[in-house]
Amino acid sequence: MSQDANCIFCKIVAGQIPSRKVYEDDDIFAFHDIAPWAPVHILLIPKRHIVSMAHVQPEDEALIGRMLGLAPKLALQEGARPYPEGGFRIVTNTGKEGGQEVHHLHFHVMGGPRPWLRG
Ligand code: AMP
Ligand code: ZN
Repeated sequence: MSQDANCIFCKIVAGQIPSRKVYEDDDIFAFHDIAPWAPVHILLIPKRHIVSMAHVQPEDEALIGRMLGLAPKLALQEGARPYPEGGFRIVTNTGKEGGQEVHHLHFHVMGGPRPWLRG
């Protein structure tokens, strides 16, 4: 299954729910979090419906690597300041005890001047 009809992030990828897009290619989509914790707070997701980091298969690893490689570029593009004074956090909540609310894999990429609301 590559998309889940009931998944809010699949609907964002399909354009059925609006988002503030910051990046898109054949496999990856990135957009602003609707409730940001930090001055810069984007969500980086695979277009394909992968449920969580606990569901990543060996064949997904190149995609995950590409997403992590993209994160610093998108953080700077969206206004995070450069390392070392600036920087960013990458957070991936996984499962109930991991605090995951949307069950489509996503990397939170957060940055910008502190204090932050959370994180
Ligand atoms: P998590 O708790 O790690 O599953 O994070 C889910 C994130 O998705 C939260 O930070 C929400 O603010 C964010 N979110 C939920 N719905 C939307 C939406 N329609 N557009 C953008 N971000 C969303
Ligand atoms: Zn999905």
